[in-house]
Amino acid sequence: MYQKEIETLPLEKLRKLQSERLVKLVNRVYKTVPFYKKQLDLHGVHPKDITSIEDLHKLPFTQKTDIRDEYPFGFLTVPQSDLSRIHCSSGTTGKPTVVAYTQKDLAIFSEVVARSLKAAGAKPGMKMHNAYGYGLFTGGIGIHYGAEKLGMSVIPVSGGMTQRQITLLKDFQSEVICCTPSYAQTIAHEIEKQGLDLADFNLKYAILGAEPWTDAIRQDLESSLGVKATNIYGLSEVIGPGVSQEALGEENTGCYVWEDHFYPEIVDKHTGKPLPYGEEGVLVFTTLTKEAMPFLRYWTNDICSLSYDHSISRTHIKMSGIKGRADDMLIIRGVNLFHTQVEEVFNHYDELSAHYQLIVSKKGTMDIVQIEVETTADFQQELLFSTGFTNDDCVKNESLSKLTKKLGKKIKDSTGLSMQIQLKPYDSIKKSNGGKIQRIKDLRHA
Ligand code: ADP
Repeated sequence: MYQKEIETLPLEKLRKLQSERLVKLVNRVYKTVPFYKKQLDLHGVHPKDITSIEDLHKLPFTQKTDIRDEYPFGFLTVPQSDLSRIHCSSGTTGKPTVVAYTQKDLAIFSEVVARSLKAAGAKPGMKMHNAYGYGLFTGGIGIHYGAEKLGMSVIPVSGGMTQRQITLLKDFQSEVICCTPSYAQTIAHEIEKQGLDLADFNLKYAILGAEPWTDAIRQDLESSLGVKATNIYGLSEVIGPGVSQEALGEENTGCYVWEDHFYPEIVDKHTGKPLPYGEEGVLVFTTLTKEAMPFLRYWTNDICSLSYDHSISRTHIKMSGIKGRADDMLIIRGVNLFHTQVEEVFNHYDELSAHYQLIVSKKGTMDIVQIEVETTADFQQELLFSTGFTNDDCVKNESLSKLTKKLGKKIKDSTGLSMQIQLKPYDSIKKSNGGKIQRIKDLRHA
């Protein structure tokens, strides 16, 4: 562990620390951020009503729209001259939001990233190939300083120029790669396509995040890159990457939320009422220690659940993998659908790669979902495909038609929806070029 004492702090001590930090925070933002003074007054809450973390639910939420309304610096609690850095969110769902950091904030940012990288298997002395985008996005620079803090040497490649990534990975013998899972797939795909030998690389760990991904992609990457792959989660408004991290050896049990700094809640999407551990809802964070631009109960819009695992040494709560963003949820013939639910199904088929896209359209009043999914090179070769194939070929070719049927049934069983499956030839689906990938094409309102 990077900070054993805090990572294993007994829960009652953690609650005490969180309570002290929350009380200070509420007093500070009430005095320094006109938005919070107005909101707390409107909700009839005074800082003296907040005496412990148990009182958190009395506070109003902060929404992304509030941050946009206060653009650029309305949420600052310090003079602009005290800032050390300014970042923006990626702007995946609209205008990017501005976030700012003091020296102290940056130290905490690096500390939680170092904690995360260590939990994922990275060690001082290893090389970190950082293919997260550098610039306004918090990913690249955030991981960079955290890795340096841990004592790694960082190769700041940023995203894109895949051939250069592969050359550097091979020549520098980096042990760790950090990027989006979809970009790791692009790199792995290129390595495979070029027939390169994994033995010429030295990769051991892939620390992947910034977009939802499931075990199907993990399995794919662990074999195609020869790594152990873990999930890192974060968002600019809370600090950046390193808000939570999956630990090596504890894959698929969720990511530890570093709750001495970021207090998580799960609330009902419609009512905002806090939900019990284990229930799925919207993830909300209070930034307990952020100095320049702290947020009370920030509504992330990400859907997941929280739970404690008391059988292990780290005491911090775990969040499940993000199913998707609340506003990315598709409603198909009245049924809710996240693309990750479809992705999970690919895990059961060796014939399929995890490169796919969902295309949603309308026929009359009926929603139609088409899944385009790539087959693997091995499967394609087995069938001796030549120039590509279509659904007509699927009907003609028995193994393809069987696979299409099996997949359709499995997807119907797990999502409750019938979808049209289109198996695509190897290397025919557009890959990520470094950033966050768009897995859904919704043509209904086009
Ligand atoms: P934007 O919200 O514009 O994409 P950010 O770059 O700050 O801005 O990205 C934060 C968002 O990215 C999170 O709210 C979440 O939706 C997504 N995200 C980050 N890490 C993960 C992850 N490991 N799994 C799923 N989604 C993630």
